[in-house]
Amino acid sequence: MGFVYICQKIDVVKTVGFYTLGCKMNYAETETLSRKMKDAGFQQVKFTDEADYYVVNSCSVTESANKKSRQAIRGAHRRNPNALIIVVGCYAQLKPKEIADIDGVALVLGVKEKFNIVDRIREYEMCGCAVQQVSAIDEVNDFSYAYSCSERTRAFLKVQDGCNYRCSYCTIPLARGKSRNPSIQSLVKQAEEISSRGVKEIVLSGINIGDFGQSTGETFFDLIRALAKVSGIERYRISSIEPNLLTSEVIDFVAQSNVFMPHFHIPLQCGCDEVLRLMRRRYNTDFFRKKIEEVRAKIPDAFIGMDVMVGSMGETDEYFRKSYDFVKSLGVSFVHVFTYSEREQTDALKIKPHVQESVRTARSVELHALSEQMHQEFYKKFDGQIRPVLIETRMRDGYQVGFTDNYIRVQTKIPYNAHNQIVTVKLQYKNGIMYGELPTEQ
Ligand code: SF4
Repeated sequence: MGFVYICQKIDVVKTVGFYTLGCKMNYAETETLSRKMKDAGFQQVKFTDEADYYVVNSCSVTESANKKSRQAIRGAHRRNPNALIIVVGCYAQLKPKEIADIDGVALVLGVKEKFNIVDRIREYEMCGCAVQQVSAIDEVNDFSYAYSCSERTRAFLKVQDGCNYRCSYCTIPLARGKSRNPSIQSLVKQAEEISSRGVKEIVLSGINIGDFGQSTGETFFDLIRALAKVSGIERYRISSIEPNLLTSEVIDFVAQSNVFMPHFHIPLQCGCDEVLRLMRRRYNTDFFRKKIEEVRAKIPDAFIGMDVMVGSMGETDEYFRKSYDFVKSLGVSFVHVFTYSEREQTDALKIKPHVQESVRTARSVELHALSEQMHQEFYKKFDGQIRPVLIETRMRDGYQVGFTDNYIRVQTKIPYNAHNQIVTVKLQYKNGIMYGELPTEQ
């Protein structure tokens, strides 16, 4: 009886606003939740509007992410004290009770429960009592498909979830569960669906995508070879891949592919071997350097980004200096700098010394400056080159903006609306901005 009611479309149109924090996976999953709710008859409104329901897809990567998640929940409750707030995401999985105690929260759904959001709402409407439904993370085995399309030019396709690694500072395995993936065949179907919506670029997303195949015995290399054949998708990017899982065959494949872009993001986390050991990362600086050299030798124009964490437990001044010098010596295209934040239930809490907040901030500022310098150096190298740009947005001053194959942001004046088209431009670097000039025959 209840099931029949759950599956019916609602009679009165109810509105829902979504708010997403954290990584691209969360954004992809929010879009999937929104599609499910729209299919069930809900009308999506802005999160800043007054709505009947609010869904907060939370993040817990740092304490500040937890705080922002709480702020979003409180903001929604202030906007409409009668609204029902549903909280999903990593923070919901890790701290359901803490979230359920916030005023206005009706449902807290864990990793396993969140994609049944419509059924859970119907159950709530019948019983009227606040519910936490969060399964123990080691019971989570299923994979939920998700993709998001930004500006209708680029989609983030979730190809893998969870992680079997146990980096000492990280709670992601506790929030997302073990590494798992669907079949390549089913992901090809997802890519075809994205293509049918007119999207030209897909970013392959996951928690540890190089580990693809734990559920199916397939490999990440098999996956990219299959996806490369999907018609209509002209560009793929690999969001982030652990250095020890970025194999030579993957690099060789990207080097010869017309659709896999010369763009890598490889998390280093620290450029000091002593700290890498404390972090329980699965490589050392020597291995990492060789990996970067291999990418450069095979794909000289590749954009290479990396993550570096500052202020982690055990990162003395000397170790930070070593890390900084190592990062500088690599001369990559960009560094995504993270500041370490203590997370409950992690082994890193036992490591000494702790780094003072002020020192963490100073290290972050120093590394951001280095990243900016390297980013600009990378841009300057391509001044005067001709490269393809996928146009994504239009600025108020008339410039159309997009990215080159090797991830240079370009703004260009085009006498027609080139949204979602790949145009070839001559790059011109000026005062930190890359402009693109159309060759005269276009
Ligand atoms: S590889 Fe390490 S840092 Fe990345 S999700 Fe897994 S445990 Fe966390």
